[in-house]
Amino acid sequence: MSNIAIVGAGISGLSTAYFLKENGYQRQIDIYDPAEPGGKVQTLRENGFVLETGPETYLVRNPLLFHTAKQEQYESQILKANQVGKKRFIVREGSPQQVPSGPLSFISSSLIYLPQKIALASAMGKKAAPWEKMSFFDFVKHFAGETNAEYLASPFSRGVYGCEAEDLEFSAAFPQLYANLRSGLSLAASVKKMAADRKEYWSGKFPSYEFTSRERGMYSFAEGLATLPKALAKALREKYSTNFISQRIASVEKSNGKYSLKWNGGSRMYDRVVWAIQAKHLSPIVQKMDEQLSVHLSGMRYSPVNVVFHGWDSKIFKPNGFGFLVPRKEKFSIMGTLFSSSLFPGRAPEGQSLTKTMVKGDASVFSDSDLSEMAEESLKRLFSIHGKPSFSKVLRHEPGIPLYFSGYSEWKRELMGLMDQHSGMHVTGWDYHGMGIPDALEGGYKLSEAILGEHA
Ligand SMILES: Cc1cc2nc3c(=O)[nH]c(=O)nc-3n(C[C@H](O)[C@H](O)[C@H](O)COP(=O)(O)OP(=O)(O)OC[C@H]3O[C@@H](n4cnc5c(N)ncnc54)[C@H](O)[C@@H]3O)c2cc1C
Repeated sequence: MSNIAIVGAGISGLSTAYFLKENGYQRQIDIYDPAEPGGKVQTLRENGFVLETGPETYLVRNPLLFHTAKQEQYESQILKANQVGKKRFIVREGSPQQVPSGPLSFISSSLIYLPQKIALASAMGKKAAPWEKMSFFDFVKHFAGETNAEYLASPFSRGVYGCEAEDLEFSAAFPQLYANLRSGLSLAASVKKMAADRKEYWSGKFPSYEFTSRERGMYSFAEGLATLPKALAKALREKYSTNFISQRIASVEKSNGKYSLKWNGGSRMYDRVVWAIQAKHLSPIVQKMDEQLSVHLSGMRYSPVNVVFHGWDSKIFKPNGFGFLVPRKEKFSIMGTLFSSSLFPGRAPEGQSLTKTMVKGDASVFSDSDLSEMAEESLKRLFSIHGKPSFSKVLRHEPGIPLYFSGYSEWKRELMGLMDQHSGMHVTGWDYHGMGIPDALEGGYKLSEAILGEHA
């Protein structure tokens, strides 16, 4: 077996290392990252508020969270989102409308009108093969009409991908659904097959633990989402003697099939390297080794996202539910707001509430106070709030949320072709394998399977 360097200690890097070790990888693993383990998953505490700087929730759709929680004994810290989390809103004509959560509420919902409801219901039986570069907006428009694209695809895309539905490539965001539709299945049959394939893939993977649909849902931890990377890093350090090296890798060189990683003041040679960092950060690192790969990586795109936290005296504003999303068609400067303190207990001090608002756009032209005011103004307009927030904090995410742009699937295929020329070098992370923390864990799990398979 070879020795491995993993560059990046976000969830993707941590999970690759964790599952390699758990499944019997014997040699040393070194993990490089100048920052605390967790990457985008960090929990801050300020003025009694618990602030999730990146993700707010973990949407369980595979067994990995509960499996690692059982193995590493952090199960007792898992929190399921409050029932009120089922109340979600989308803004229509300037006011928040509740998103239907079942067939009855679908019929009575005022979010979409009767013709759109009929279009949506009949879309499930439709068969049509989308083309690879089709946008998510055009896909929904094609299946269920333009209004559904405006009021369902647009807010979904903003809420999950931080981008406009027109800019999101359907085949990249939903690869299995795309493949099933291309094979001639109806939309309903494609969704069903996707769920069945997923169930089959995970079935029996962990003999000591069988995943059931009862565990699906939205989760966090009593001490915030950072509990997850902390638990993985602790297991890696204490149980598996993994080295965490607090260095930013600056470049890589290749000789005799081995990789020499270089950082300010040092270098070390590895048989295998896993790059669990964003393509934009990897591009300059590989420039000297492979100019073509570097140029290709620099073609990845990102959606800039700014996060504004507000604390409110609950007498002024006490939000109830998951939060709301704003379709592009509605004239607001924000993409949506999460009602953090109503989802999980202990997120705000007694008598206070916490909101987390996403403001889209290039933050370099706006100051923190501009961004905070944009979020405050939108919340006041939507909920008729009279009074100022008691707390405010702004965070900017660089380079932003990976954008699965039109042409992304082709870009990724070409990237994998270029990577094939560097045996023992791998990429993983949210630029390549899906947007959420469960995808990052799954990407690491599957990469560990592939690496162990090569050694078998
Ligand atoms: C605002 C926001 C909200 C989100 N909301 C949700 C949500 O509610 N639910 C959900 O599931 N997901 C959500 N996500 C997505 C989730 O955060 C990501 O899917 C996940 O964190 C990606 O993990 P990663 O390890 O792939 O990458 P990252 O977390 O980006 O980790 C990459 C790591 O690489 C390190 N690195 C970079 N360059 C170098 C270098 N040269 N040398 C060494 N190390 C380097 C960085 O320091 C970082 O630690 C959200 C993200 C954002 C930004």
